[in-house]
Amino acid sequence: MLRKCEACGEKDECITCSSSFSGQTFALCRSCYANDIYPYDALVSSVWSIEGIDNATDWFLTIVENNLTFYGKTKEELDSDVNFLEYRFNEENK
Ligand SMILES: [Zn+2]
Repeated sequence: MLRKCEACGEKDECITCSSSFSGQTFALCRSCYANDIYPYDALVSSVWSIEGIDNATDWFLTIVENNLTFYGKTKEELDSDVNFLEYRFNEENK
């Protein structure tokens, strides 16, 4: 059955898998699955949960950097998205 890949949006025979860095499950196309590409939002929330990319282990940093290249984003953009998530979290918990 063709499904939309949660990372790149292509329709493919998606593989349902959990990421190597969180307990979330994603439907990924074969290409994203093979290349360790994950939905961008999942990376943002995972980086947020470790309080910033500076706290990432080497292997997680490699995944993040590969995904940033895939999405055409910079570390600064990721930082700003992580900060926005922190802002939203604080707003919701006031
Ligand atoms: Zn994909």
